[in-house]
Parts: sequence; structure tokens; C-alpha cells
Amino acid sequence: MNRRYRKLRIEKRNRLLELAYIDPITGLGNYNAYLERTKEKLEMNGKKTVIILDIDKFKTFNKKYGHMKGNELLKRVGEEIKHAIRKTDIVCRLANDVFGIFLVGEVDVENITGRLNNKISRINMGDIWYNLRISMGVYICDKDEKDVQSIIDKAIMAHDSIKGKYHVPYGIFTEEFEQKVIRESEIENMMEEAIKNKEFEVYYQPQISTKTEKMEGAEALVRWKKGENMISPGEFIPIFEKNYFIIKLDEYVYERVCENIQEIKKEFKDIPKISVNISKESLLDNKFLEKYEKIMKKYDIIPKEIELEITERTTVNNDIDIRNMLNEIKEKGFSIAIDDFGTGYSSLNMLEMMPIDTLKIDKSFIDRINIKEEKTNFIEIIMFITKKLNLKTVAEGVETIEQVNYLKKWNCDLIQGYVYQKPLRFEEFKKYIKEM
Ligand code: C2E
Ligand code: CA
Ligand code: CA
Repeated sequence: MNRRYRKLRIEKRNRLLELAYIDPITGLGNYNAYLERTKEKLEMNGKKTVIILDIDKFKTFNKKYGHMKGNELLKRVGEEIKHAIRKTDIVCRLANDVFGIFLVGEVDVENITGRLNNKISRINMGDIWYNLRISMGVYICDKDEKDVQSIIDKAIMAHDSIKGKYHVPYGIFTEEFEQKVIRESEIENMMEEAIKNKEFEVYYQPQISTKTEKMEGAEALVRWKKGENMISPGEFIPIFEKNYFIIKLDEYVYERVCENIQEIKKEFKDIPKISVNISKESLLDNKFLEKYEKIMKKYDIIPKEIELEITERTTVNNDIDIRNMLNEIKEKGFSIAIDDFGTGYSSLNMLEMMPIDTLKIDKSFIDRINIKEEKTNFIEIIMFITKKLNLKTVAEGVETIEQVNYLKKWNCDLIQGYVYQKPLRFEEFKKYIKEM
């Protein structure tokens, strides 16, 4: 082979390698390069730390200053990271605005993340300083960690763990969080089947009037029975709210409730008003009213037999879409309860503007009734306001007779809690109505 030809071939190979491993925008290694280089380092002894660094709102920056400036910014960020780490460490650009860092040897996480944050949160290009926000995920590698993809995943998981926490610049991977993520995806994998297999069951918890001592209402609470096990709503509801499956579940629960009310009506003359929990996601679904009315008609239910519970958090921003929706619901004749009242910092203004009928005082306030030293008793204040606004009050999570007496004294209307009854299966609930 002649020399000239060989040289050309080597050049060509190098260029291809470059294309495969170099990020043209920053001149740093790309994702493939990161995989290769960290793989080598993982074979070595000593401590290793992975940091995933993400520029927040990079898209907005691009929109505001243009793609050229955006590219320049990425380059500058790459340079700053390089300055902040050692020669033997690695930095590559893994995707759009995400950098992968790999540190070899002892590392003070607080220190390095602090330095990165300082350098990058105010960055200069030309003569202009730009303010940025970055967030990082940190994984301190196990001694015998060899799988590159897995260490990246763990650092990404650490990054995910601070999602929504704007004042926290970095998260560190923990087994606990990993377990949570695994559990979450387990639940997500089971949910569709669970509806089909009728694993969700509706329980009813009676609400007792402080005046008549009779049951005047009941709250429908969903239960998930998976074989022998129960999965708690406290666990699956937040997951379903995140992935919007709650829209389906709320509707399913509502339909069971309508079906059950229809059955109760055949047997009893006086029936308690049943309240059903409705998540914000369901409420904002544009088919909400149409679907719920259709179901109601299917079972011959009239709106005044049902109360819809909306958490205080749903209403707290005084969101116009929410308010419009509540007004429409109200016009149809349903009554509306604000759930978990006291946990979401509502304003009095909001209480007056929202078309609500009932206020459910959160259990945390009921728990405090026992505390003798409590100076300001919020329940007294809440009762004062609700009477002024003509709202019905329900105390939630009432467990002792002392609490009942206190609530009677302050004219709370209904009491819901273990002191009277735990949530009951429908069959038991019917017996309970009979005895009442
Ligand atoms: P929530 O709406 O605040 O429901 C009250 C919770 O307090 C229920 O928990 C109930 O079992 C519990 N509880 C009642 N009395 C007592 C008591 O005296 N002591 C104690 N320690 N607890 C009491 P549960 O059934 O585990 O439900 C948890 C949450 O899940 C509910 O809180 C509600 O936000 C949500 N949820 C339940 N069913 C549904 C549903 O069908 N749709 C939606 N969107 N959310 C639901
Ligand atoms: Ca509720
Ligand atoms: Ca509640």
C-alpha cells in the first residue's frame, strides 16, 4: 500500500471517529464518547462520582437569544465545567442541554456542585453576563459498579428526585428513591389491568350529624385489592394524578357510586348524601361534565344526591378554569365540598368567590384539639368564618370523644372518623344504613 493512500485512509478513519465521538457544538465528547471513556475509568481503582448537569429552561434561552447564542452558551458551559474539574476527569455533552461529568478520586460533592453552580449560574459571553439556572444529579459509584448505562441512569434518577424543588441545585442518588421509582413503575404497569379485573372497590365512611347523631352523609373512598394485598390510596393516587390515570379512576369510582346509590334508593327512603373525590386532573378534563352527567342519568341519580369533593390545593390559585368548572357543576345542581381545608392556604377571598357548599376541616386540625397548650384554636376561627359564609362543616379524621364534644360545642355539622366508623364495604354500609 502506498504511503499517500495509507495516510488518506487514516485521516478518513479519524474523521469518522471524530464524527462518532465529538460534539461539534462544544468540541467535547458526545454521548458515545462518554460511554467509552467512563467505561475505561470504571475499570480503575478508587472512588468515582457521576454528575449529570442540566441547564434549566435552555429552550427559553434559545427562543429569546437565537440558536447561535444558544450554541455559544453550550460551548461556554462546557468550558466552565472543564475549568471546574481535574484533567483526569471527564466531561461530555450527552444531549441538548445535558452534560455528563465523571470524577475520579475523592470528591467533596457539596464543594464541586457549588463551584459548578457558581461558575455557570452567571456566565459571560462577549461582554454580556447571562443568568442561568442549572440542576444536577449526583451518583457516587458503588465499588464494583461496571455498567456505564446503569450509573448514568442513577445520576438521572438523582436529578429527577429534585424535580419541582427550585431552590435545590442538586440531588444525590439514594436506594430509597430508586425503590420509589421502581414501585411507581410497578404500579403503572398494573393499573390498566386493575380496572378491567375490578380490583378497585368503593368503601363508604359515614358522616354523623352532631345534632341528630344520625348519618347524614358518607364519603366514597377507593380501595385497591391486589390479590391478598391492599395498596393504599395514599400511595397510588399521587402516581395516578401524575400520569393522569386518575381521570379514569375517578370516573370509575363515580360510576360505582351511582350504581350503589341506585341500589340503596330501592331499599331505603332516607339516604345519606354521598361525596365523591374528584382530582384536579379530572376536573380540567374537557369531557368531565358530559361524562359525569351521562353516568348519572344511566343510574337515575339526581345531582343533589351527590357531593363532589375538591381538595383545597385545587382551588387555591383561584384558577379561572377551575372556577368556571365549579360554577358549571354547581349550575347542574351538584353540591361542592372543599377537602383538606387548612392545608392549602386559601384566602378568604377565594372562599367567598368559589361556589362551595361544604368545608371539610383537615385531620391535622382535629388532631390538635388534644393539645392543651395550643393558644389560637384554628377550629374556632374556621367555624366562625364558615357560619358567616353559610357553609356546612365536616370534621375529618375524628378519633376521640373529646374531639367530638369540642366539635359539638363549636357547632360543627358533621363528623367523619374512626370514632364512629371506619370506611365500610358496600354490603356493610347497607347494614349500617338499616341500623341507623
Ligand atoms: P381524603 O379525601 O382526605 O380521605 C380521608 C382519609 O382519611 C381516608 O383515607 C380515610 O380512610 C381516612 N380517615 C378517616 N377517618 C379517619 C380517622 O379517624 N383516623 C385516621 N387516621 N384516618 C381516617 P384513605 O381512604 O386512605 O384515602 C386517602 C386519600 O386518597 C383521600 O384523602 C383522598 O384524597 C384520596 N382518595 C381516596 N379515594 C379517592 C378517589 O376515588 N378519587 C380520588 N381522586 N382520590 C381519592
Ligand atoms: Ca376526601
Ligand atoms: Ca380530606
